[in-house]
Amino acid sequence: MPYEGLSRLTITAICVLFAPALRAQALAPAPSLDVERVKDDLHVISGEGGNVAVYVTDEGVILVDDMFYRNFDEILAAVASVTDLPVAYVVNTHQHDDHAGGNAKMHAIADVIAHREVRANLSDIRQPYYEDTPGTPIGLPNITFADELTLRLGGKEVRARHFGRGHTDGDAVVYFPELKVVHTGDLFLGRRPAAADPGGGAEGKPPGVNIYVDYAQGGSFVEWTATLDGVLALDFDTVIPGHGPVSSRDDLVRFRADLEAMRDRIASLIRAGATKQQVLAVFETDYGWRSTGCPPTPPTPGCLQFQQMDSLIEELGR
Ligand SMILES: [Zn+2]
Repeated sequence: MPYEGLSRLTITAICVLFAPALRAQALAPAPSLDVERVKDDLHVISGEGGNVAVYVTDEGVILVDDMFYRNFDEILAAVASVTDLPVAYVVNTHQHDDHAGGNAKMHAIADVIAHREVRANLSDIRQPYYEDTPGTPIGLPNITFADELTLRLGGKEVRARHFGRGHTDGDAVVYFPELKVVHTGDLFLGRRPAAADPGGGAEGKPPGVNIYVDYAQGGSFVEWTATLDGVLALDFDTVIPGHGPVSSRDDLVRFRADLEAMRDRIASLIRAGATKQQVLAVFETDYGWRSTGCPPTPPTPGCLQFQQMDSLIEELGR
């Protein structure tokens, strides 16, 4: 996957990117994405890609994630619907392009922060995960951290934490301590009631249809629950998931339990000598994954997971 150097991107972006932002403010169009207040000055933008948190301070805006490259103008319009202040920082929860795809454009207006493995993974894409147009430029984070980074702006504080491997090896959980809210990225996926979400992850079913362990970029099904235990040690009551509706702490506790039950069940099958075909059949029948009829791109829910099935079986069989 090609990507362009930051300096060239920055120069190009400065020339072209302020125009849409100014236009959005001048005309104040209704944003095409949904904007919902989570608590006080914290909002979430949703509608395409991953959930984007918008934290407004007196000195600017902190975003968590920036969706796809193509969503840049819409995100700025959505931000402009809640504040006149500019975006100062973007914190990536991980490198997938539905969460960090806007980085290349965000560089023109903000610092982009992520775990150091996000930068490493973006520098060396080992497994394509690109729903965006092929050739879409990648934006490397310009500030990286290992375990924890505290961001202070306008008298408010945001903490980016890394609790270990799970969805990838660079997952950041972004904590808003004054509000008792966390943004988990794809370490947790919110579930809508069955009637509103008949396709995937419906209430009453295990979360398996939506979880994705990106082994090529350091993910781990085995370690995922311990990583969530790190998250659960924080003091919070509200969760912005990587995808799906704003959820509660109890929702995250349930997700963790479901994930553990699923992992242990599959691991038991593998250790008992199940063949790959038998394991695939369980995923398809009980967790909604799909091994056939999947397009090569984009990664359709239930399809993406099979790309790295050999790695999953290897890890769970240890
Ligand atoms: Zn992801």
